[in-house]
Amino acid sequence: MRLTMLGRPGAGKGTQGALLAEHFGIPHISTGSMFRDAIRSGSALGALAKRFIDRGHLVPDDVAIRIVEERLTRGDCRNGYILDGFPRTVAQARALDAALHSTGHELDAAVEIRISDEEAVMRIAHRWVCPECGATYFRRYPACAERSRCQVCNATLTQREDDTEETARERLAVYLVQTQPVISYYEERGRLITVNGEQSIEEVFREMVDSLTRVRDELESSGAL
Ligand code: ADP
Ligand code: ADP
Ligand code: ZN
Repeated sequence: MRLTMLGRPGAGKGTQGALLAEHFGIPHISTGSMFRDAIRSGSALGALAKRFIDRGHLVPDDVAIRIVEERLTRGDCRNGYILDGFPRTVAQARALDAALHSTGHELDAAVEIRISDEEAVMRIAHRWVCPECGATYFRRYPACAERSRCQVCNATLTQREDDTEETARERLAVYLVQTQPVISYYEERGRLITVNGEQSIEEVFREMVDSLTRVRDELESSGAL
């Protein structure tokens, strides 16, 4: 299955993307993580992306489109993938459709995880991440050493540089102007699935799996998968 996850910053795209990838046995591709890896590696792409990310703005479309197109040609994407954080503009959505059509494929579903503006800012300001394995945690008070370590690999948790309350508000404003239209784009094409993101991680996951399993069964019975 070829999927994309949409939603405000902090909606749970990364959390659910990792769970879905394991459930369906397909890769989880996060453009935000790809840019952060590029920044860490010290590449020219990383330096360019950092200028935009630090301010809470989007990296230019041509750059984002290029890294995703390149990533999708890799062998592990043969049977599908879960895009997380792409497309973030209508231009990116059109480019993705064009790239898929050129290989005779289609995006099977766009899943929107819906949360409110206040919940988005609150979750981002309290997001802690594991620099080793990428696990994320919600920590209001991370002072205690045990709570500041990753439960998976025991590394010391850190906060993303763009996860300040001020940058979160800017990212949210950018989302409303540039990314919200992507939701209408998929809705008009009959490919949008919306789930309520203000439930427990387990409940959100269950709702997504139920909807996506129906999509997969329909695709299988129509011979598209
Ligand atoms: P996104 O990738 O959409 O920005 P994340 O998956 O990184 O979002 O989640 C943002 C923050 O909210 C993280 O700290 C994560 O642990 C927490 N979180 C994710 N899903 C839920 C949920 N259903 N309820 C409460 N907190 C959540
Ligand atoms: P979030 O938790 O806000 O959903 P991500 O990790 O997906 O954050 O993205 C972090 C930052 O990386 C974004 O604020 C943006 O600057 C940049 N970015 C990620 N994906 C894209 C994209 N598809 N187009 C442009 N910029 C992107
Ligand atoms: Zn870890």
